[in-house]
Amino acid sequence: MTTAPQSAESTGDLSELKRLLHQMSDLSAAEALMSWDQETFMPPAAARVRGLQMASLAGLAHELFTAPRMSELLNGAPTPDDQTDAALLRVVRRDHAKATRLPGEFVEERSRAQNEAHHAWIAARQNNDFASFAPHLEKMFELARRYADHQGYDDHPYDALLDDYEPGMKAAQVKVIFADLRDRTLPLLRRIAAAPDAADYSMLTRPFPLDAQRAFAVRVAQQAFGLSPDFSRLDESAHPFQTSFSRDDLRITTRFDETYFPMSLFGTWHETGHAMYEHGISAALERTPLSGGASLGVHESQSRMFENLLGRSRAFWQRYFPAFAEAAPEVAAGVSAESLYRAVNRVRPDLIRVEADEVTYNFHIMLRFELELSLLEGTLKVAELPEAWNARMQEFLGVTPPSDAQGVLQDIHWSAGLIGYFPTYTIGNLLSVQLLDAAKAQPEIAAEVERAEYGKLREWLTQHVHQYGRSKTPAEITLAATGRPLSADAYVKYLFGKYEDLYGLR
Ligand code: ZN
Repeated sequence: MTTAPQSAESTGDLSELKRLLHQMSDLSAAEALMSWDQETFMPPAAARVRGLQMASLAGLAHELFTAPRMSELLNGAPTPDDQTDAALLRVVRRDHAKATRLPGEFVEERSRAQNEAHHAWIAARQNNDFASFAPHLEKMFELARRYADHQGYDDHPYDALLDDYEPGMKAAQVKVIFADLRDRTLPLLRRIAAAPDAADYSMLTRPFPLDAQRAFAVRVAQQAFGLSPDFSRLDESAHPFQTSFSRDDLRITTRFDETYFPMSLFGTWHETGHAMYEHGISAALERTPLSGGASLGVHESQSRMFENLLGRSRAFWQRYFPAFAEAAPEVAAGVSAESLYRAVNRVRPDLIRVEADEVTYNFHIMLRFELELSLLEGTLKVAELPEAWNARMQEFLGVTPPSDAQGVLQDIHWSAGLIGYFPTYTIGNLLSVQLLDAAKAQPEIAAEVERAEYGKLREWLTQHVHQYGRSKTPAEITLAATGRPLSADAYVKYLFGKYEDLYGLR
């Protein structure tokens, strides 16, 4: 890097701006590293001071970003010829406008309220006591409405919330796509639920020793999906996640259950999909705000592709069954590749979102999206929420939660103020199939995927999705990569093809 002398007033090129953005990015990476450590290896007594240390780093990054010099540099920046620089300015100006629209008192009030709500939620879920959480939830939705007012919006306050997770997406679009998805997949779910099911699922709960389980999960993550120990680590945590401090420093976690191996296997491959996205981001974007995923939905499209579209495919299990049987001879005794494929794709309308299969999962999301809209609009009161939740569970999935702990209290999101976040899971599911279909339009990619080989597919994903980081919007990436905007079409077709076959509904 050249270090031409800069006067304090000069905003004539981007070098000072980039230097500050690198510092911000480094502070965030240090905070993320502390957070990763907190979830994996930190001794429990360290929690209090660790929280203060992380808050200091976050505070420093925020100070750099909201300092007057940052505004000067952003306002005075020349129009760059370079496309990457132009994208950098566009994204940073957008982030900066969002950060500076919020009054400091609001940020502090929200942070305090989220902390209280989080603790209240943990206790409420433990004690199955929604009433004790209700005032905190009211506060979270009040803060969400005020947040939307600070940010501004054209049509619906939800748009201002959704935009933080899925830039450019509007509630009105989500409504249309979700209604279409629901109308077309609910009949399929009804037919599956009514179909006789003689499949054997007992192998899923046979003991699979943890060391062997881990070795198999990693072997597939490396061999099939390209994860390498040169640039990644797999560890354990209570809640699986992926984080990264650069494209060559990826951390994923999973959790293991000796008598339920699908949790660790599919969990590992899910997080591997997230990690390989980060690994594919162009090195030119390193240490800048462009070096993350385009949106949560685009990120989830990559994790769901590895976990479900590939990891739960027939071709995959035909190829990897021998290795599986070698790793877990007791589980595989009397089991075939086909019966294992059938078992890991069991459709069962049930209570818990994170355990849901490919057919029922999106109904858990649609339910949350509808309730968030009503709560935000004030047409539904927080006190009425458990009843509204249970009614929709019955309507969509035909099950009623026996307790709020297994119903409305199951997710952490609302207690953390994450309102407008849920739709990104379904957006990711829909996009995963739309992208895979577009990639498989290339015969050599389709042929490889049929053999459960994914090298060419990964190249395609890097070229069409990963490399851009945040420099393109989700809508731009989707249109350029697949030739059309996001819709439910590809996903619906995929579900019908796979599950009519699995459940003998043809
Ligand atoms: Zn994910």
